[in-house]
Amino acid sequence: MSKLYLVPTPIGNLEDITYRAVHVLKEVDVILAEDTRTTRILLKLYQITTRVQSYHIFNEHRKTDEIAGRILAGETIALVSDAGTPSISDPGFMLVRACLEKGIPVECLPGPTALIPALVNSGFPSDKFCFEGFLPHKKGRRTRLIGLAAETRTIILYESPHRIIKTLKELEQVMGGGRKCSVSRELTKIHEETVRGTFAELIAHFTSQAPRGEMVVVVEALSQKTTAKDTAWTPVYADFNRGCLKSSFFSQRRKDAKK
Ligand code: SAM
Repeated sequence: MSKLYLVPTPIGNLEDITYRAVHVLKEVDVILAEDTRTTRILLKLYQITTRVQSYHIFNEHRKTDEIAGRILAGETIALVSDAGTPSISDPGFMLVRACLEKGIPVECLPGPTALIPALVNSGFPSDKFCFEGFLPHKKGRRTRLIGLAAETRTIILYESPHRIIKTLKELEQVMGGGRKCSVSRELTKIHEETVRGTFAELIAHFTSQAPRGEMVVVVEALSQKTTAKDTAWTPVYADFNRGCLKSSFFSQRRKDAKK
C-alpha cells in the first residue's frame, strides 16, 4: 500500500544520513522538499534520481489535501526538510494529520535533528525535557518566557544568531542570574561549539565573539526543591513586565509563597 514517509536529513555534516533514508528516497515515487535546490545537493551526493517537488510553509495549506489524495491514489511520497526531521520546526505536521485522517499509513524514519545533540551536549538532565521550538518574535513572547521560568524540565529552544543576545537577556530577566544555560551552534559542522555558563557569561561570550550559525539554546530547569519563597521571582518579574504581575500564574505563585 502507498504511504507517506518523513525522512530526516543531515543538519550540517552530509554523512549524517542513514542507509534506510537513502534507500527510501531512492524507492519512493516523489520526494517533497522545502527547498528543492538544497535537497538536490544531497540527492546528487547519494545518487538518488527520484523526482523532487516543492512543499514548504508558503504552499503547504494549498497542497496538503492534493498530496494526501495522490497517496490515496497509489503514489508513495517522502517528505524532507532542508535539514533535520520534517515537522520539527519545519513543515510536516499538516500533511501527517491529513494522511492519518484519510487512513493513509505514515512512517517517520529516525535520524538527525538539532535538539537532541544540543540537549545531550548541555550536560543538563535529559530524562525529562520540553522542546519549545522558536519563541514568538512579538505576540505572546513574554507570556511564553514567563511560563518557561517555572518549567521543571530542561528547556530546549531554537534560535538564530541575530536574536541570541536578546533572547539570553530576556531569559535572564525572567529566570534570574543563577540559572545555567548551554548554547550549541553549528552542530555537526566544522565550527561546532557548545558554550555553557550563566546567562551573563553567555551574553559576554557572544558579545565578544559575534554569534554565527544556527543555534540551539538549552536552559536548566527550575529546581524542584526551589520554593516560591526562596526565589527572587517577584523583582525579576516586576522588572521584566509589570503587567504580568496580574497574571493568574503569578498570583498563584504569590499565594503559594504565603503558605
Ligand atoms: N527540522 C530541524 C530539526 O529537526 O532540528 C529544525 C529546523 S528549524 C527551521 C532550524 C533551526 O534548527 C535553527 O534555527 C537552529 O535553531 C536549529 N538547527 C538546525 N541545524 C542546526 C545546527 N547544525 N546546529 C545548531 N542548531 C541547528
